Amino acid sequence: MNFNREKTHKRGSGNGESVIYVMSRDQRVSSNHGLSYAQQLAIEKKVPLAVVFVLTKKGFRAREHYRFMLDGLRGVESQLAALNIPFMLLIGKPSEVLPNLVFHSKPSAVVFDFSPLKGPQKFIESMSHTLNIDIHEVDSHNIVPIWEASDKLEYGARTIRPKIHKKLSEYMDDMPMQVKRHPYAWPGTVLPMDSLSAHIDSFISSIHSNGQNISFSSGEIAAEKALQEFTTNRLKGYAELRNYPERNHTSDLSPYLHYGQISSQRVVNAIQAAMLGMQDIQHDVDALIEEMVVRKELSDNYCLFTPSYTSILGAPSWAVATLNKHRTDVREYEYTKEEFERSMTHDTAWNAAQNQLVKSGKMHGYMRMYWAKKVLEWSRTPEEALATLIYLNDFYSIDGGDPNGYTGIMWSVCGVHDRPWGERSVYGTIRSMVYGGLKRKFDVSLYEKQWVAR
Ligand code: FAD
Repeated sequence: MNFNREKTHKRGSGNGESVIYVMSRDQRVSSNHGLSYAQQLAIEKKVPLAVVFVLTKKGFRAREHYRFMLDGLRGVESQLAALNIPFMLLIGKPSEVLPNLVFHSKPSAVVFDFSPLKGPQKFIESMSHTLNIDIHEVDSHNIVPIWEASDKLEYGARTIRPKIHKKLSEYMDDMPMQVKRHPYAWPGTVLPMDSLSAHIDSFISSIHSNGQNISFSSGEIAAEKALQEFTTNRLKGYAELRNYPERNHTSDLSPYLHYGQISSQRVVNAIQAAMLGMQDIQHDVDALIEEMVVRKELSDNYCLFTPSYTSILGAPSWAVATLNKHRTDVREYEYTKEEFERSMTHDTAWNAAQNQLVKSGKMHGYMRMYWAKKVLEWSRTPEEALATLIYLNDFYSIDGGDPNGYTGIMWSVCGVHDRPWGERSVYGTIRSMVYGGLKRKFDVSLYEKQWVAR
């Protein structure tokens, strides 16, 4: 079987003195196809290998979430040191600091992580134009690489699901080679993260704080612990209990998956292994694969093939028409971004969900849908609703700034991957959600008590 996980964007002269792996979406050493691929290239060419990470301002990401990420990167640095691979933290704009590094270290190849988001996609394209070296992109995030799953925008889970399942088991066998001690030492001195602490502190202090006390520990070891804890205690019953926000029975893996501190491939391996020792968990394993493999990759597919994934322009035409038709409907309640942010709505469940987000950094998945739909219902325009949601999600959610977030918001507000439902005020034919529905589904008053205050 020939696996197709790497995409070559450019062939340069082929001569060079090193190979560079630019870590971004996949911040781990183990089970990292991009890093393994870069090491193979370096060994073939008998040259040193370096791993580079560019610390730069990203959208609304909060100071606390940068800290979480940097803690994980410290672990990456020390693991790589034991493998004779330097870790370089560059601070600044990628378009400035990377070409500068390439100029000085003369690599023959640079390997990038795949991300479907506009910034990283454009960046790889621009590097391919300006640098005369080999440029590669590797999808280490999805088990079935994005370009293998589909070459077009998918309508929804029902169209991408069979394509993914057709290739899932063969791509589960595509395990990355374990990174070994690199035989060729990096020639110059590389400043360790510790010696950059003044620069890191100054970067961090330029970022807005959201005041969160993040309870998740960061890094590959913490991610592995979280996986073990989930498989032991919550995998059984996941299929049903994940829909009860008051019972907290989801995996809680999204912070680790978002920063790439663990791979989906590793998670699927672990839950499949758990089936050997646990009875009656096939439907739980299937449910997690549906969320973490099918839905997650559907989000990547949507963002990759939709340039306007944060705007109403990225909605299907039926949704644009219905939102426009109901644009001037009178809103029973109307709130500003600040009122939403401070949980000042009349709806106790909505306020609880917002409190959970602000306080813990992670809202329960079921409530995210209700939360987003109500922002559409209580905002002056769909555009204002999208702007509010993207800000709140990216600033407060530890897994924010992710294709899953943009797609989840577009599903809630703009009917993406959905179909028209019965017509209602403001929503038009976009699927709505009501408080009474929450009451029928779970113990909403218990959830409200859990998150009554921040
Ligand atoms: P679990 O139920 O244990 O799921 C395991 C993994 O599957 C998740 O970590 C995630 O990677 C994936 N997954 C689960 N549900 C979905 C889904 N609906 N779509 C795509 N992938 C999914 N997810 C984020 O990772 N970041 C976000 O910023 C984000 N924002 C969202 C905003 C809205 C409005 C909506 C409706 C959904 C959003 N989601 C987001 C998707 C989903 O709610 C979260 O992935 C999930 O709640 C994370 O918690 P968990 O890991 O405990 O979930």
